[in-house]
Amino acid sequence: MIYYSLNKLAPQVDFKEATIQGQAPDKGLYFPLSIPVISNKWLNEIDSFSKEEIAFELIKPYVGQSIPHRTLKRIVEETVFFDFPLVKLSNNIFSLELFHGPTLAFKDVGARFMSRCLGYFMGQQSQKVTVLVATSGDTGGAVANGFYGVDGVDVVILYPSGKVSSVQEWQLTTLGKNVTALEVKGSFDDCQDLVKQAFSDQDLKKKVLLTSANSINVARWLPQQFYYAFAYQQWDDKSQPPVFSVPSGNFGNICAGLLIHHSGLPVRHFIAACNANDIVPDFLRTRDYKPKKAVATLSNAMDVGNPSNFIRILELFSHRFTDLSHILSSYSISDAETIAAIAEIFQKNNYVADPHGAVGWLALKKWMEENPGEKGIFLETAHPVKFYDIVEPIIHQKISIPAPVNELRNKKKLSIVLEPSYENLKEFLLTFT
Ligand SMILES: *Cc1c(COP(=O)(O)O)cnc(C)c1O
Repeated sequence: MIYYSLNKLAPQVDFKEATIQGQAPDKGLYFPLSIPVISNKWLNEIDSFSKEEIAFELIKPYVGQSIPHRTLKRIVEETVFFDFPLVKLSNNIFSLELFHGPTLAFKDVGARFMSRCLGYFMGQQSQKVTVLVATSGDTGGAVANGFYGVDGVDVVILYPSGKVSSVQEWQLTTLGKNVTALEVKGSFDDCQDLVKQAFSDQDLKKKVLLTSANSINVARWLPQQFYYAFAYQQWDDKSQPPVFSVPSGNFGNICAGLLIHHSGLPVRHFIAACNANDIVPDFLRTRDYKPKKAVATLSNAMDVGNPSNFIRILELFSHRFTDLSHILSSYSISDAETIAAIAEIFQKNNYVADPHGAVGWLALKKWMEENPGEKGIFLETAHPVKFYDIVEPIIHQKISIPAPVNELRNKKKLSIVLEPSYENLKEFLLTFT
C-alpha cells in the first residue's frame, strides 16, 4: 500500500515509512492511495472466521510488502487476544464492549498493533528507538502497556504526580523493563511542554532516535477497523445492518469505521457522539468547520477542540458534504445529559456504562427517535471502573475492578520523580539507556 500526505507536499511512502514517521514531513496526515474492497463471498462467510483471521484479512492490504505474512499474523494475534463482545441492552440497542484489553481501554488495539509493527521495523536496524509520551492518565497506560517488552523500543512516559487515578498510576508505574515512568512534579501541561521541547531539540535528536506514539499514526488508526467487523460478525440480522454510534474525540475510531464501510462492510448509518466539544455537530449543521478551544467534560478522553482525524474523513468523501451527511450524523451531549444517561441505562437495562459510552448511547437514542424502526450499536470505549468517581455516585453501587488490573496494586511502583525542567528531562534521555 502507498500512502500520501494530505498536504500533498511530501513524497509518497509505504506502510513502514508511514509508521516510523507518524506524520509526513509537510505535517500532513498519511492516507492510503487506494481503498481495498471486501468481497461479498467473504462477508457471507464471516461467521466461520476467527477474529484473528478477520483482522489479518482486513489489515493485510494496508501493510502490503512491509511485513511478511507470518510475522503479520503473529502481530495480529497479539493485538486481538481479548474479547470484543456485543451485549444486548434492549430490543434495538446493543453495546460493543471494547474495554476487555490489558488497560481496559479501546486504545489497547491500536497501541498493541503499532508497537509490534514498530518493534519489527526496528529489529531490521541496529538503532533503538525511544517512544516519548506525555499523558494525563488514560491513554498513556494503553501506549505503555502496548510497547511493554517489545525489543528495540524504549518507552518514556511522563505523567503529572498526584493527578492521575490510582488505577491509572498502577498501569503506568508497575511495568518496568523497557517502560520508564517519569513522575513529573507539575501539571499535565508541564509534561506536554517537556515532550514538545524534546521533539524540537535538534541536538538531542542527533543522539537519540525519538518517536511519538501519536494517535494519527496509520498503525494506530487502521486496526480500529477490526471493531466494526467483529460487531458485524456478532450481528444476528444481517438483512438489517447496524447503526454505529461512536463516542468521538479525535475522530480516529469513527474514521476507521467509515473506512471499512467504504471497503464494503454493511452499515446503516454512523453517529459521531460528542460531548460539549461540538465542532463536528456544528459542521454538519452549518457546513462551517470552526475549531474551538477544548472544554473540560466528564467524558474527558473526548475533550478535543480540533479533531485531528476529521480531515481524513473529508478526504474519504472527496470533500463532498452531501455524501458525508447521508451517512454521518452527530450530536453534542452535555454533562447533565451524560449523568442522566448513566442513571437511565442502569435503571432500565441493569447495565453500567462509563461516561463515554453513555454519550454514545444517548446520541444513538436521539437518532433513533428521528428514525424509528432502526437497530443500533454504541461503542463502549472504556471500562466504567476507570471513571468510578463519576459513575459510582450515580448508580449508588461499587464497581469491581477486573482481576488483572486489581493485581497491579500489589506490584512495586517504579517511577522516577522529575522536577519540571527541560534540562532534567534531556539529561535523563541522554543517559538512561
Ligand atoms: C480516545 C477515547 C475516545 C475517542 O476516540 P477518538 O478516536 O479520539 O475519537 C473515546 N472514548 C475513550 C474512552 C477514549 O479513550
